[in-house]
Amino acid sequence: MINKQDKINNTHTRLLDNEPVGMTVQVVRVMGDGAFRQRLLEMGFVRGAQVTVLKNAPLKDPVEYMILGSHISLRHSEAAQVEVTDKDAEFCDMEDAYNGIVETTVAGVDPMEDNVLRIALIGNPNCGKTSLFNCVTGAKEKVGNYGGVTVDSKEGWFNIDGRKVQLVDLPGTYSLTEYSPEEMYVRTYIRDNHPDAILNIVDAGNLERNLYLTTQIMDMNIPMVVALNMWDEMEKSGDHLDIEMMSRLLGARMVPVTAYNGHGVKDVLKAAMEAIDESEQETRHHNVNYGTLIEDCLKELGEMCPTLDRYTVLKIIENDQHALELIKGQDNAEQVRVTAAEMRQRIERDYNDDIVSIVTDLKYGFVRGALAEALTANPDRATGETKPGYSMDRLLTNRWLALPILLVLMWLMFEATFTLGAYPQEWIETGIGWIGEWIGKAMPDGILKDLIVDGIIGGVGGVLVFLPQILILFFFISLLEDSGYMARAAFIVDRIMHRVGLHGKSFIPYLIGFGCGVPAIMATRTLENRRDRIVTILTIPFMSCSARLPAYLLLVAAFFTAKQGLILMSIYLIGILVAALTAIILSKTILKHDKTQFVMELPPYRKPTARNATIHMWSKGKQYLQKMATIILAASIIVWALGYFPRHEGQTPQEQIENSYMGMMGKAIEPVVAPLGFNWQMGVSVLTGAAAKEIVVSTMGVLYTGESDATEESTSLKEKLQTATKANGEHVFDPIVAYSFMLFILLYFPCIAALAAIRREAGTKWMVFEIFYTTGVAWLVSFIFYQVARLL
Ligand code: GDP
Ligand code: MG
Repeated sequence: MINKQDKINNTHTRLLDNEPVGMTVQVVRVMGDGAFRQRLLEMGFVRGAQVTVLKNAPLKDPVEYMILGSHISLRHSEAAQVEVTDKDAEFCDMEDAYNGIVETTVAGVDPMEDNVLRIALIGNPNCGKTSLFNCVTGAKEKVGNYGGVTVDSKEGWFNIDGRKVQLVDLPGTYSLTEYSPEEMYVRTYIRDNHPDAILNIVDAGNLERNLYLTTQIMDMNIPMVVALNMWDEMEKSGDHLDIEMMSRLLGARMVPVTAYNGHGVKDVLKAAMEAIDESEQETRHHNVNYGTLIEDCLKELGEMCPTLDRYTVLKIIENDQHALELIKGQDNAEQVRVTAAEMRQRIERDYNDDIVSIVTDLKYGFVRGALAEALTANPDRATGETKPGYSMDRLLTNRWLALPILLVLMWLMFEATFTLGAYPQEWIETGIGWIGEWIGKAMPDGILKDLIVDGIIGGVGGVLVFLPQILILFFFISLLEDSGYMARAAFIVDRIMHRVGLHGKSFIPYLIGFGCGVPAIMATRTLENRRDRIVTILTIPFMSCSARLPAYLLLVAAFFTAKQGLILMSIYLIGILVAALTAIILSKTILKHDKTQFVMELPPYRKPTARNATIHMWSKGKQYLQKMATIILAASIIVWALGYFPRHEGQTPQEQIENSYMGMMGKAIEPVVAPLGFNWQMGVSVLTGAAAKEIVVSTMGVLYTGESDATEESTSLKEKLQTATKANGEHVFDPIVAYSFMLFILLYFPCIAALAAIRREAGTKWMVFEIFYTTGVAWLVSFIFYQVARLL
């Protein structure tokens, strides 16, 4: 018999990257190492798997492939890591892959230990976890979060047979390997919280890939029930699954479910409760049988680490760093390590492959073997045909139409958010104005009245005005995500974002950033990768938000007579340029990204439900009000107080702000801003603008005209600026100063609301970084511009 490896070595291989559209090939191996390779293997790029090249993105990169019936986008550079061969080349035999299951017996656990029954929802992204969660709990959820990780889970409660049970919606994940933040989160959650049962949701239309995760969960020795979700689609597709046989082959209970209309949900919960009750006695767990050699190793090593589950023991053999961490405290840690290393060598020698591929192959072999018996594909469907739900891609990712359609959709979303949102925003402003006026009339003059009217009510107004925009925007984002279009948008623009080291998914938050940074920063949640998310968050403030526009309009109108539009546009472009440079620098240095993120799934299009969208919208609105509003409110009051104190009798508003702490600070920083061409009045405006960028103009109004309600259109303010002179008789402003000032307003300190959002999404450390970074960049750019322009 020819050695397996020889067969592989004799196979003529090519790189997936070079395959033409329409070609179907067979995977031989994935090159490289580490997280990216692991992710590809786990997505099904195992030996012998068939891949079809479906389509190039409109900008030629990335490329859409079909593997295991799911659509996946890979960049050319990544596809070049996959060695393939002709689809019917015979180079490996897959027959002996299914070895059945092994049973392990574990002592019973008392599930009521802490009086809380907990069921964790685990499954691939987009398999319907959130739909099931909302269906079961009525979405009265609480958002949970591990410190420092922006991936979060939701907790909700439901009642069954008089018992109260907590359901936890964990982030979607393809595997539990702890490479991505989601995997880390789910793994840590299971380890720390010991859920009483795991409800593993799988997409019934994509069992091969989905059940891979199931094989990992099985090894954790926690009672598990599999919900075969999207059963409605399964029935429509004409495929037939013998559930009873499948359950037996896998050794796991399986229940068909249609999460979005609630079919079968009760049954699956009942099954989970039964599994919990049974686990109180001694329970038998079913695991993948990896064959004699590996099973013997697992047994031997398992006896050396009696506290660890089978999953972790296998990971130790795989030389997984996280698993090795867990045995550090153990007396025999060194011995375990050495034994595991020996075992690994033995296994690798025997299978003639590396351990990660061996284990992934075996798991996939197990799943494939079981499916071969229990699943009958619709005989009417031609092989290689894409599944239903993808037909809209002919239009939406079409080579010529994709970009125009994307732009129109984005424009619609933008308009709805910022133009439609402007109406409720105005009502809120008017309403708050009325309340302020009413209180102003009712209360005697004095500090308390000023605090309430200008500080608190003004501050509350500053918080509430964002709410309509946030609600509208997240309604749209939820529709885009649920329908599956978000992944397409990323697919279409990935090439552009790749230039600056980011993922296509960053595109939408950036776009929103031109309207307002707060919802833009909140929208970065759609990015799975934390590093990408942070780079995006930190660069969003450079997208010039609409609040900065009044200041530009005032300055452009006052100091530039020709080419006003061009001047304005140059400011926006400089913002984009600085963002791009920052993103490049960050992703090359402190925020180097791991490559797993680029393997993106393109889910089939589905009809989004109004219910999910509404729930999503409210939960975002609530998050905003609860977490950020407090910070924004407190900070607005502080800024108000700095401009209000100390009080002196009989001052004009102009003198008041000049002599306030804010005025003193403005004067104190004058030497720092003088090299940029600024005087202390501009310094003060910049400082008050920290609360919100609109305030820059109104502060200039107070300082130059004594009117607090100045806008960019007031002619008096424009004239005052044009004629303002320094002590030596020179004009304070000229086009150079004005442009330098605009650059500074564009780039410096994002407003308090944006900082609160940054703190919430990225953490305090990054918020502090952002304060210094943006202000530093602003100073430097204005300085260089001003000094160079003066020389010319
Ligand atoms: P998650 O990413 O796992 O939380 O998945 P979601 O709950 O967000 O669902 C992803 C998409 O699948 C949404 O468009 C849902 O409306 C849809 N969906 C969820 N459950 C079902 C189902 O049982 N049948 C069908 N046809 N679609 C579903
Ligand atoms: Mg979800």
